[in-house]
Amino acid sequence: MQHTGYFRPQSLAEAQALLAAHPDAQALAGGQSLLAAMKLGLCQPTHWVDLQDLPELQHITRHHDHLWIGAMVTHEAVVHSAEVQAWCPLLAHLAGGIADAQIRHVGTLGGSLANNDPAACWPAGVLACGATVVTTQREIPADDFFIGLFTTALQAGELILGVKFPPVASGHYLKYEQAASRFALVGVAVTRSAQHMVRVAVTGLGQGVMRWQAAEDALSAQWRVSALDGLFLADTEAMGDVHASASYRAHLAAVLCRRAVAHHTGESPTMPRGAKPRATPSVQTTVHATPPGHTLQGEHVLNADLLQVWQALLDPTILQMSIPGCSAMRLLKPNHYQATVKVGLGPVSAKFETLVQLHPDIAPTPGSTQARCGLDVSGQAGALGSGQAHVQVQLEQIGPHTRLHWSAQPQLQGTLAQLGNRLVQASAQRLSEQFFERFAQALSGEAPRGGAWFFFYALSQPLRRWWQHFFRK
Ligand SMILES: Cc1cc2nc3c(=O)[nH]c(=O)nc-3n(C[C@H](O)[C@H](O)[C@H](O)COP(=O)(O)OP(=O)(O)OC[C@H]3O[C@@H](n4cnc5c(N)ncnc54)[C@H](O)[C@@H]3O)c2cc1C
Repeated sequence: MQHTGYFRPQSLAEAQALLAAHPDAQALAGGQSLLAAMKLGLCQPTHWVDLQDLPELQHITRHHDHLWIGAMVTHEAVVHSAEVQAWCPLLAHLAGGIADAQIRHVGTLGGSLANNDPAACWPAGVLACGATVVTTQREIPADDFFIGLFTTALQAGELILGVKFPPVASGHYLKYEQAASRFALVGVAVTRSAQHMVRVAVTGLGQGVMRWQAAEDALSAQWRVSALDGLFLADTEAMGDVHASASYRAHLAAVLCRRAVAHHTGESPTMPRGAKPRATPSVQTTVHATPPGHTLQGEHVLNADLLQVWQALLDPTILQMSIPGCSAMRLLKPNHYQATVKVGLGPVSAKFETLVQLHPDIAPTPGSTQARCGLDVSGQAGALGSGQAHVQVQLEQIGPHTRLHWSAQPQLQGTLAQLGNRLVQASAQRLSEQFFERFAQALSGEAPRGGAWFFFYALSQPLRRWWQHFFRK
């Protein structure tokens, strides 16, 4: 078993330097999620960088336009903070409902947000409050911070310092607990600003926290439970698992939202009999879910002609540059590559030994406007399992540009298969965008930012996103 080193920096600068010097190190807050993930063999950081001695992350302070809660503030400290109670009681109530006293005394706000568990309570509170996550590099509005399942906007080595909560006039958080862990089977946070704008954030649906736009619109127009009559989430907005079906989760979201509003208005939260369901499949998501086993696809217009794009696709240097995080790539024989890929998503990370085989099915000839390339990828991640993807890439010359259409069908085995479909769905869109951004940069002669990675990332949307995030954690 790999030995994990331990650092206990005494300043933020030291913590940042340690994370920069050890790319496979991970920040350690209370270890509530990180250590559990390690025990399950889901990640193997080379070092822990323990944040508990950093004074910048420990405080709760009230400012004229926001409440500051440091990243290392524990849930229990939030429960008992007079500042929090005065500024936004929703937050104290939310923190008080997390797990049990032992967990609350050790688990932290920053750890919860960085982890972005799809059933966690804090992401709902932070999103509903329209808060801002402050990191060592920037300020990230909550709407941009939560990307999807176990995925956030945090970059490698970027630490959360704390969260700025703006004032809210009223708000409430309610969850229906998963009996064993007290995580939210579904949780709903509702806030209303002094300007009567309402935000509704739902956690526990399966793909990470989301805003429920239709409920927000209805409640901003009329702050009454009755404004929600007939309003339900579409079942397709939720995912089912051993704990609850998708339709049950969607139903719970509507029930909890009504109860959270009733908490303030004093009305009955009961849905009137015979209320006609309104068509509102309008959860505002940051990711696009794709049913398991579904073919993933996407399209991109590249600023280069067909021949240039074709040559770039077959050029291992450009491909490696385009895929963030590829630590090594080796040519085995023409169009056959071996790559080492580190995949990181939330607490899960794995090193894949990957074989990639390119099939240049229809190569472009002078004057032709179309070309086609296939790609078979297979990766082995030790005890975590394995994955394969067949990817089709079609190129079409359109004026001076080239349209690239890709489709992929990934398959996973082992432990990865249990996480895989959800990870794939959560990751697909962003990985795709990131790869093609890098690929376009490489085509134009710029070096993509960050490390290099592998081609099949780019083209197998699920595995791509998957792998790219896996890298950076
Ligand atoms: C049995 C159990 C029940 C739970 N029930 C609930 C519940 O009901 N509701 C709920 O919301 N949560 C629940 N949790 C989650 C728990 O409360 C913690 O919030 C969560 O596990 C994060 O733990 P942590 O703060 O110790 O972070 P860690 O486990 O130390 O870290 C988690 C991740 O965040 C990263 N990280 C930590 N701090 C930072 C930072 N400042 N900047 C950047 N990255 C950082 C780490 O590198 C790691 O990847 C439960 C946990 C357990 C074990």
